[in-house]
Amino acid sequence: MKEYKKPLPQMSPWSAPFWDGCRRHELLIQKCQDCQAFNFYPKMYCSSCLSSNLEWVKASGKGKVYSHMTVYAYQPTEFADDVPYVVAIVELDEGVRMMTNIVGCPPDKVQCEMRVKVVFEKATDEITFAKFKPAN
Ligand SMILES: [Zn+2]
Repeated sequence: MKEYKKPLPQMSPWSAPFWDGCRRHELLIQKCQDCQAFNFYPKMYCSSCLSSNLEWVKASGKGKVYSHMTVYAYQPTEFADDVPYVVAIVELDEGVRMMTNIVGCPPDKVQCEMRVKVVFEKATDEITFAKFKPAN
């Protein structure tokens, strides 16, 4: 595997289960055990009721494009080889939204409401990214 030279996410104690899940190719989100709300990004307290009673659950990995943009030029140069690429906000069927990339599809074919499903891309032994591709 080629050495990964782009910036990597900083793992926090409360986000580590998400990254552990990605390494196992499982998309995990938090579910509040008090009000049943799904939460993402990883939090210490439920964004609906402020409870700390959050449990990690496996998400369906399915959703739709909520918003997207295509990057044609970028600084710093670590991403230069990737252009053009799509940065998107995907709304999972569970209702939470994730910032991610759409892959496996020409950038000009990406549309809002397009159905997508998760794919995992290993960057390093510690970090695997959850990205999305068209569902059909
Ligand atoms: Zn809650």
